[in-house]
Amino acid sequence: MTWSAIRGQRLAVDLLRRAVAGGRVAHAYLFAGPPGVGKRLAAAELARSLNCLASEAGEACGACRSCLKLAADPPVHPDVIVVEPDGRLIKTEQMRRVQNEVYARPTEGRFKVVIIDGAERMNAESGNRLLKVLEEPPAYARFVLLTTNAAGVLPTIVSRCQIVHFSPLPPEEVAAVLQEKAGIGAEEACLFASLSGGSVGAALAMAASPEVGRRRDEAFDLLLGLGEMDDAALLEQAAAWEKEKELLEERLEMTALWLRDALLLAREAPERLVVNADRIADARRLARRYGGPGLMAMLESLAAARGALLRNANTRLALDVLLLDLHSAAQP
Ligand SMILES: [Zn+2]
Repeated sequence: MTWSAIRGQRLAVDLLRRAVAGGRVAHAYLFAGPPGVGKRLAAAELARSLNCLASEAGEACGACRSCLKLAADPPVHPDVIVVEPDGRLIKTEQMRRVQNEVYARPTEGRFKVVIIDGAERMNAESGNRLLKVLEEPPAYARFVLLTTNAAGVLPTIVSRCQIVHFSPLPPEEVAAVLQEKAGIGAEEACLFASLSGGSVGAALAMAASPEVGRRRDEAFDLLLGLGEMDDAALLEQAAAWEKEKELLEERLEMTALWLRDALLLAREAPERLVVNADRIADARRLARRYGGPGLMAMLESLAAARGALLRNANTRLALDVLLLDLHSAAQP
């Protein structure tokens, strides 16, 4: 691994590599960004480049004793400590261990590196223990906190960290990673990338799950049959979606992609822009059935529902409204 293997995070990577090269690595970083965009890879690379015995320009050599020990995830190096939630939370006991270990000098490397994955999931006491260490860190210690929700990390902890933002990757970057690293075909890679919300992790999980294809079929069938559904059926659909909250975002995105594809075709855009490239004929059916204005109205309802859900609106109510709106937009 090198810094260049972390895709789509040029700002974060440049900042970290330059800090290592210049010997100006902060005592504590908070890597903030959505899941599956490279935060953990970057933390591991930082640990490697800090402890590499032959690093050059902030880049670990990949071949020395330290680099070899740090090649695994989680790393097996006496001076690199990785903490992640045990169950739902990072527990007091885990942070007590960090407190004990961090004040012992590094045995093999120059730095003791503590990586805390899921920093928003510390209970109050774990948080306070971490805060104590961050207030008086030993000179050789470096902390990397990772979070998908910076607002959930204790403000007193955040204030002691340099924040590094990790952004969602552009879909074409996610698709490229899927093709290169997982050997996924171009059409599928493009579909999963579009559904992933910019997260390589999410895209890989989808690629590994046959369920995704089934949910794409469901989204298509729902859109095609929408005009004929009565109110009871629409509300039943909303209830079914609410029941599987963890799949909701994916279902909505899947629905949005079908609508977007159909809208593009209705407006005679080139076929290469269509995400469901293996199902062009189906996207054309939707385009013919609802036409540009109908599809546009459906996409707007979808965007409104997603906005409401992001603002923590009542999920069931937002979905009821969405399904009823989609149905109205589906009328000729
Ligand atoms: Zn090395």
